[in-house]
Amino acid sequence: MYQSCFAHNYVNARERFLEAARLQECQLQSFLNPVGKGIDGEDLTMDIAYYGDAAATSVLVLTSAMHGEEGFCGSGCQVALLRDQPLLDEARQAGVGILLIHAVNAYGFSWGHRTNEDNIDLNRNFCNFEQPLRDNPYYQALHPLLVPAVWPPDPDNEAAIQAFIRQEGMQAYKIGMMMGQHVEPQGLFYGGQGPSWSNRTLREVFRAFGRGRQRMGWVDIHTGLGPCGHGEKIFVQKGQDEYARARAWWGADVTSVSDPSSSTVDIAGTGTQAMLEECADVPELTFMALEYGTVPLDQVFLALRGDRWLACHPEADDATRKAMKAAHRAAFYVDTDAWRGAILAQSRVCILQAIRGLSS
Ligand SMILES: [Zn+2]
Repeated sequence: MYQSCFAHNYVNARERFLEAARLQECQLQSFLNPVGKGIDGEDLTMDIAYYGDAAATSVLVLTSAMHGEEGFCGSGCQVALLRDQPLLDEARQAGVGILLIHAVNAYGFSWGHRTNEDNIDLNRNFCNFEQPLRDNPYYQALHPLLVPAVWPPDPDNEAAIQAFIRQEGMQAYKIGMMMGQHVEPQGLFYGGQGPSWSNRTLREVFRAFGRGRQRMGWVDIHTGLGPCGHGEKIFVQKGQDEYARARAWWGADVTSVSDPSSSTVDIAGTGTQAMLEECADVPELTFMALEYGTVPLDQVFLALRGDRWLACHPEADDATRKAMKAAHRAAFYVDTDAWRGAILAQSRVCILQAIRGLSS
């Protein structure tokens, strides 16, 4: 039953993941986030399951919840893989180890945020903090409009945002929103002022599991951008050889973030750096973000803005809070069997393609 791969909350997702991993006799390890608890008082952990020969020269990594609430989707894909014996057999026969990293940002997964315990967007947090951080003047101009004093935003607010888009262009708006920023800790797409716990832990995992390998592939599962149910294959590495390899593995529809047709922009400090930097000795590294569409981009942005407003307004009444949390969930997880089915079908193909790419 493919539906049962998907959970209704973080605790449930973790249980399903650990149970499926134990049944496959995976090597298991849990990293406890020392900061705070989940929404029901539960521990927040990043759980690691490794399947296959410990000394495999090739490893495929599959990660969920880099962006908290997006974990409902990624966790479902991981559980589906652990229950997919033919696919696991294929990996084992090809000599490819499988490393599943469940709930990179368990805090956001549990509490229903995209960001972590410090409102850090992990996919903007893997920058070099010893160097000056990248500026995002568009965001600074947009911030007071994006997180306004009153919610829902009034017509003047909407008009001001439209005026910004008219003046600076749609691409400037997208860059302002999505590229990341380091100056507004309560704002959107905040990259932080130092490496978060998840960042340091993920790096530790990559160091431990990357040692001595010849090839590594990584599929990082996200939601919220693009047409509903469609998995956009986003390439964020810089090299032409890597791009050619990603397209050879996953198909000509792999799009680079530098391509204007991509749903995203060239963001700074993505999680990819964990592998590129910590596994720099591995001769071949191939990464893809698999980004599943949910609802139209306007709704996703509105849900994200609302979540930030809500975080700054603890006095909001219960009905408002509930409605806004539901809108946020819907922006990152479409609760229908058609969507879940489409997700798993595409994720299975990408995993199979990666296994074949890693073994060829
Ligand atoms: Zn994401």
